[in-house]
Amino acid sequence: MPEVLEVELARRGVADLLSGAVVRRVLRTDDLVVGPGVDDLITGAEIESLDRRGKQLVIVTDRGRVGVHFGMTGRWLVDDVSTIGELAYGSGNDHPRWDRWVLEVEPADGRGPVRLRLHDPRRLGRVVLEPDIGRLGPDALRLTRRQLAAVLARRMAPVKAVLLDQEAIAGLGNMLADEVLWWSGVDPRRAARSLNDDEVAALHSAIKRRLPVMLRRGGSHTGVLSPDARRADMPCPRDGAPLMRATIGGRTTVWCSAHQR
Ligand SMILES: [Zn+2]
Repeated sequence: MPEVLEVELARRGVADLLSGAVVRRVLRTDDLVVGPGVDDLITGAEIESLDRRGKQLVIVTDRGRVGVHFGMTGRWLVDDVSTIGELAYGSGNDHPRWDRWVLEVEPADGRGPVRLRLHDPRRLGRVVLEPDIGRLGPDALRLTRRQLAAVLARRMAPVKAVLLDQEAIAGLGNMLADEVLWWSGVDPRRAARSLNDDEVAALHSAIKRRLPVMLRRGGSHTGVLSPDARRADMPCPRDGAPLMRATIGGRTTVWCSAHQR
């Protein structure tokens, strides 16, 4: 499932291509995925930039903004080439019937029209007019320590659940939340507001340091608590203690029984 790193990679993958491009026409649209008014706005529009807050992608055009959310399995394909390469989520299969939104786009570099496809087998992606960015918390890749401290201080919920709450911090999903808690040595079950200053600093440091490393490696599956490590009956790579598993914030959470306190 795409988290902030996958969406940022998707943004970078098409940002240059789409900047200054004109959308000639909409070749295919799925009414379940694409909201009312989107196709009318985008047809003939010039794309100014591609922005992102958390997992929400925003196509900024000269006629308004269109929000793209990839859901569980969505990704961009440009003329049949995936912009992300090897995906940790989704099947990697490419079936035209799973294209939910297809645009014919004329890039500014004069190469001639290309097809931009929103490919989404599970059909849980969403394309909407004027996405409500204001309800989202600060972006995980730009989060300041002060912002993190303020978010945690307000909440009694387990810190893991708060990290997953997109209105608190935008962009962290299940794997990244477990990963930064592991690095910071904080038990995911702790009440968010019980963290002291040093623990908030450690958690912020983990977010600031680990996310860029994983972005360079290719996504949220490249951490210490990788999908393989999460499945296997593996000890903690730091201290050899048993890894624990429980459902927190509605998601399967993995943490170390020794060094996360
Ligand atoms: Zn450990």
